[in-house]
Amino acid sequence: MSEGKRAGERCVQLDDDNLCRLFGDPRRPQVCSDFDATHDVCGDSRDQALILLTRLEQATGDA
Ligand code: SF4
Repeated sequence: MSEGKRAGERCVQLDDDNLCRLFGDPRRPQVCSDFDATHDVCGDSRDQALILLTRLEQATGDA
């Protein structure tokens, strides 16, 4: 995504199985490679991760 990804926006690189198409590819953004999927951010499931990440986005967003 040439102009970055907005909070809450689905990345165009996610495939139908919610896996990154750029994993292991040098074109994968550095911020993605640096992200550490810790339990406090991602919880125990995709649903928990979406809740936790949405809260973080709301707490740190402009609106
Ligand atoms: S790791 Fe980065 S590039 Fe890959 S799907 Fe997630 S946001 Fe998109």
